[in-house]
Amino acid sequence: IETIPKETDMVLKVSQIEIEIEIEVNPPKGSGQILLRNLYLSCDPYMRGRMRNFHASYIPPFVPGQPLTGYGVSQVVNSDSPDFKPGDYVTGITGWEQYSLVRPTQQQHLRKIRPDDDIPLSFHLGLLGMPGFTAYAGFFEVCIPKKGEYVFISAASGAVGQLVGQLAKLHGCYVVGSAGTTQKVDLLKNKLGFNEAFNYKHEPNLDATLKRYFPQGIDIYFDNVGGDMLDAALGNMRVFGRVAACGMVSLHSLSDPQKLHNLYNLIPKRIKIQGFLQSDYLESFPRFLEHVTSYYRQGKIVYIEDMNEGLEIAPSALVGLFSGKNVGKQVIRVAHQ
Ligand code: NDP
Repeated sequence: IETIPKETDMVLKVSQIEIEIEIEVNPPKGSGQILLRNLYLSCDPYMRGRMRNFHASYIPPFVPGQPLTGYGVSQVVNSDSPDFKPGDYVTGITGWEQYSLVRPTQQQHLRKIRPDDDIPLSFHLGLLGMPGFTAYAGFFEVCIPKKGEYVFISAASGAVGQLVGQLAKLHGCYVVGSAGTTQKVDLLKNKLGFNEAFNYKHEPNLDATLKRYFPQGIDIYFDNVGGDMLDAALGNMRVFGRVAACGMVSLHSLSDPQKLHNLYNLIPKRIKIQGFLQSDYLESFPRFLEHVTSYYRQGKIVYIEDMNEGLEIAPSALVGLFSGKNVGKQVIRVAHQ
C-alpha cells in the first residue's frame, strides 16, 4: 500500500501481489503450544463488535494486521502440550487461517471432541457449541419458562433462535418466531415446528402484528435483534413477562440506536428484562451437551446449517449475517476432515 499525493489530498494506492511462501510452523519445545489445521470456522454476530474499540464491550477488539479469531473446529497436527496429541479433534478459539499455532489457555476455550457418525463435526459451532448453549442457558436460566406460556423469538431461524424455539416447544410452550424472508418463515413453520412465524419485513406495524399473533400477550420474549422489535414486544408483554436480552443485531452498525417508547410497561406489568452472556452459565455446559445431543439423536430437534466453502468466502459470509443472507447457522468449511 502506498500513498500518492494528489492535489491537496493523499490517495491510497493498493496493489495486490500473490506470494507463496513455505515455512515450517511447529510448536517450539517447552512452549505448550499446539499446531491446528482448521476445518470449520464460525461466523458470529458478536465479531462485528470486535471491529471497533467500544469501551463497554465484554471482549477486546481485533488487532489490525492479525488474522481474525473466532470459534472453530480443528485437528491437532503437532503438539507440545501433554493434553493434546496429533489427530485429536478440538473446538475452541482459533484463527481465520488454514493453520493456527495456539496455546490452549482458558481464553482459547479449547476442548476435545469426538467425531461421531451421526453428528457432523461442524455442529460443535452451532447446535452443540456457543450458539446452542446461548439458546439453552438463555431460555432455561434467564426466561425460567413454564409449560403453556406464550413465547416470541426474533431472528428465529438463526443459530440461536432455531434452538430456542424447539426447546420451548419441547417444554410445552406456544411459540411464534419472526424472520426476514419467506423461506425462513417456511422453515420455522414446516421444519422447526414453531406454531406460527411471520416475515417482519412485510409487517408495517409490528405492534399490530404482535397483537395479531399474541391476542393474550407474550410471557417470554427472547430478543436477538433489539430496536423496533424489542419496543413492540415490550408493548405486548403480559404481567410478570420476561425478556431475555440475548443480542441486538439490528443495532450493530447504527451509530445512533433508536429509542424505546414502551419502557414504561416494565412497571405496571412487572416485566423482568435481563441481558445475559452465555459465558455466565458455563457450569451448565455439560448438562446442555447431554440434553441437546440426546434430543437430536432421538429426532426431537433438527438443526439448520448454512455451510459455505473456502476461507476466501468467510468475510462476505460474516457480513451477510447483518443482512440476513444466512439461512441457519453460518459456518465456513476451510478444509475437509
Ligand atoms: P443468526 O444466525 O440469527 O444471524 C443473524 C440474523 O440476524 C440474520 O440472519 C438476520 O435474520 C438477523 N438480522 C440481521 N440484521 C437484522 C436487522 N437489522 N434487524 C433484524 N434482524 C436482523 O445469529 P445468531 O443466532 O448467531 O445470533 C443471534 C443473536 O444472539 C445476535 O444478536 C447475537 O449477537 C446474539 N448472541 C448473544 C450471545 C450471548 O451470550 N448473549 C451469544 C451468541 C449470540 P433475518 O433474515 O431473520 O432478519
